[in-house]
Amino acid sequence: MFNDRHFPLLPSFALLLLLSPPHPRHITTTTRRRNPNRPSLEFAPNKPTLLITWQGSNPSLSSLLFNSHLDSVPAEPSKWTHPPFSATLTPEGKIFARGAQDDKCIAIQYLEAIRNLKARNFVPTRTIHISFVPDEEIGGIDGADKFVKSNEFKDLDVGFVLDEGQASVNDEFRVFYADRSPWNLIIKARGVPGHGSRMYDNGAMENLMNSIEIINRFRDSQFDVVKAGKAANSEVISVNPVFLKAGIPSPTGFVMNMQPSEAEAGFDLRLPPTTDPELVKKRIAEEWAPAVRNMTHEIIEKGPLRDYMGRPLMTAIDDSNPWWSVFKQAIAAAGGKLAKPEILSSTTDARFMRQLGIPTFGFSPMTNTPILLHDHNEFLKDTVFLRGIEVYEHIIRALSSFEEAGSV
Ligand SMILES: [Zn+2]
Repeated sequence: MFNDRHFPLLPSFALLLLLSPPHPRHITTTTRRRNPNRPSLEFAPNKPTLLITWQGSNPSLSSLLFNSHLDSVPAEPSKWTHPPFSATLTPEGKIFARGAQDDKCIAIQYLEAIRNLKARNFVPTRTIHISFVPDEEIGGIDGADKFVKSNEFKDLDVGFVLDEGQASVNDEFRVFYADRSPWNLIIKARGVPGHGSRMYDNGAMENLMNSIEIINRFRDSQFDVVKAGKAANSEVISVNPVFLKAGIPSPTGFVMNMQPSEAEAGFDLRLPPTTDPELVKKRIAEEWAPAVRNMTHEIIEKGPLRDYMGRPLMTAIDDSNPWWSVFKQAIAAAGGKLAKPEILSSTTDARFMRQLGIPTFGFSPMTNTPILLHDHNEFLKDTVFLRGIEVYEHIIRALSSFEEAGSV
């Protein structure tokens, strides 16, 4: 794969075809609205989900799912040292490509690991599925969300999922047992308009600025915990202002001697799964946008915080989760070190699997790598990429051979 300076990452999905036709008894594909030339499911028009299955020797055991997404965020080619969609391998061994870290690396590593295991005549006990889903970067509604709610997914009988994680800047692999859930909050203030020279109570701007002060104090209280080293960034509620909208436009800017009757601000909130969403809603309604100060608000929840049983959306990282010890042992067997499990600051497709109560870890085997997802000049070292294939061989071998707790 690395013989050529330029190799396309996405066309590596042609590997799917290498895997399936020669071994029809072991690798099968499931199809909905099937295009005979592609092993794809289509839960939304023209948004295929690719699904590959390696049949295990004991189909009565639940299966394993290795997920990644087909889409990536855009790139600004002029800000890159190499064209972002040509996957350039430099003489120092850096693969520059949009998606090199997020998360085409794992998509290809899954397949390469399976190819190596098949070459060594390894036979999995549990069935292994690999899914490539669309739309993760825009919320996954037509991707993983529809996939996990489908009958096709139910038929897979998935017992454990690995999805994407994030690069580690040191030599410890990172693993994520939960995501934070994003909320968009818009608060609006209304008040009596007035001359710019008058001081009076309950103006829209004054009401909005009071709220911003209160929200800022809350933000500081959360950030102080992080600064004091008592929690990671992803373990607190983050709230960041993202827009302010007020003022009466004039041909040269804004009318300067008039206090407006409406003002608005938008915030990005991220809630760890341990948060009680009802308490946050109460705080917003009573303190951040109280009706007594002529405030209204709107919350747009971008994902669930609880699973189907009403439990916080996180995967256990103790002995209650047998997959956790098998996963840990596999990393050790691969000669790797695992960092303390983390909550991911942002959000991935893993939340849809966790919502069904399926244990799911976020994991991308990238050590000693700067975190460049969504950034200019996203790259991955070839050695790190190749090492990742070996790590997945250990993981797939261990998880697919795990027979205890047969009903898990
Ligand atoms: Zn991603």
